[in-house]
Amino acid sequence: MTGANSAVGLRSMPARYVFLDEVDAYPASADEEGDPVGLAEARSLTFAHRRKVFLVSTPTIRGVSRIEREYEASDQRRFFVPCPHCGVMQWLRFERLRWEKGKPETAAYHCDACDERIEEHHKPAMLAAGEWRATAEARDARTVGFHLSALYSPAGWKSWADIARDKETAAGSDEAERVFRNTVLGETWIETGDAPDWQRIAERREDWPAGTVPDKGLFLTAGADVQKDRIEVDVWAWGRGLESWLIDHVVIEGGPARPEAWDALTDLLGRSWRHAGGAELGLARLAIDTGYETAAVYGWARSVGFAQVAPVKGLEGFNRASPVSGPTFVDATAGGKRLRRGARLWTVATSTFKAETYRFLRLARPTAEELQDGAAFAPGTVHLPGWADTEWIRQLTAEQLVTVRNRRGFAKLEWQKLRERNEALDCRVYARAAAWIAGADRWPEATWADLEAQLGVPSGIDSPAGMIGRPDAGTQGKRRSDWLGRREGWF
Ligand SMILES: [Zn+2]
Repeated sequence: MTGANSAVGLRSMPARYVFLDEVDAYPASADEEGDPVGLAEARSLTFAHRRKVFLVSTPTIRGVSRIEREYEASDQRRFFVPCPHCGVMQWLRFERLRWEKGKPETAAYHCDACDERIEEHHKPAMLAAGEWRATAEARDARTVGFHLSALYSPAGWKSWADIARDKETAAGSDEAERVFRNTVLGETWIETGDAPDWQRIAERREDWPAGTVPDKGLFLTAGADVQKDRIEVDVWAWGRGLESWLIDHVVIEGGPARPEAWDALTDLLGRSWRHAGGAELGLARLAIDTGYETAAVYGWARSVGFAQVAPVKGLEGFNRASPVSGPTFVDATAGGKRLRRGARLWTVATSTFKAETYRFLRLARPTAEELQDGAAFAPGTVHLPGWADTEWIRQLTAEQLVTVRNRRGFAKLEWQKLRERNEALDCRVYARAAAWIAGADRWPEATWADLEAQLGVPSGIDSPAGMIGRPDAGTQGKRRSDWLGRREGWF
């Protein structure tokens, strides 16, 4: 047994049978020595025709899913079962499962041939009488592929009603829909990476006082992008369901070679922004890109401490188990001296957060009338202030996801710039990573309630996200939170 990230483990000994589990979660390369599946397969080559390689996985994203690519090269077997009414053999498709909206318990399967209702209690006999049948010609006659969804789950595991319920629960959230498609239907998710229309986003800008935090924004993070002649920083507020608001956009003139630029960035760490509830909010975390002038970034981060600052490195690719990993300890230079393990570095799968940002930007919004009636914004909604100019918005929508093929014909998804400047998108991704590092993706309900209590705002537990400028914006307490985002704080 070995891990997909270990090149040594993957090529250590010959093996006639190779079993590769969850291949869609493998890294693109093991220890930079190449494709882990290729390395593992090579171990069986000496056994020639007696060898067997078995790949298994829950599929992930269309275009990058390895198991889908392998399945499509196979004879694509499906499990055919007979209809209890007309006897026609068919494989089960989610589209044939029907139920009354809001009543998943009424779910029944409908025969593809006679359209009769097939009930859950028919399933055991159908499964017993089923058989695997190829639905395509394999590229190589020795490659067989099998696909099975949860629609085939035996009694007591997952019923058709359970699947209908899962589907209803997932509705409205792209993330939940993706998990449903991947894990229940065993199908890939099609990531829509088209850049959102910047003009449409510009039309949705909202008016709240510049530099202040609306009541549903519960903590602040910043993303800093270091350029040759300046450092750009965007400050974002985050609320329940990762609804977010752009709070500030700071351009520090002078590049990483100028000490004044770093002093200005240090000042930013001590700054605060007025919350609608009256409190002052500091930055819980600032994530800073180390791609340009790595040593200067490490040196500065070291001088201000790693409690509030997270140096980050962006990585391509979707199939990482976690969008952020680390921190790892890296060498830093201080006062001309090299310090072993003197800095901490977080690795960010930027693709994941870019796709999420674009998904969030495309979310439908309640109308003014619906808001009046108490409707809430969907979790993840991105709010931009009126002062965000068109250049900034065009930077935010500066990239699109495209499928590219390498020389061997393997498809891969890649973000491509549609225009030269994209700092707003980079800063957003780093600020999002900072929220992840602060723990927001894993906080229990009690933590959100605690933040609300600290800020003196009403609990948002009943609504997935909040409204701006609600008249009963809680107590107007002027107490200053001594821990929200302060360096000695509890984040
Ligand atoms: Zn039938």
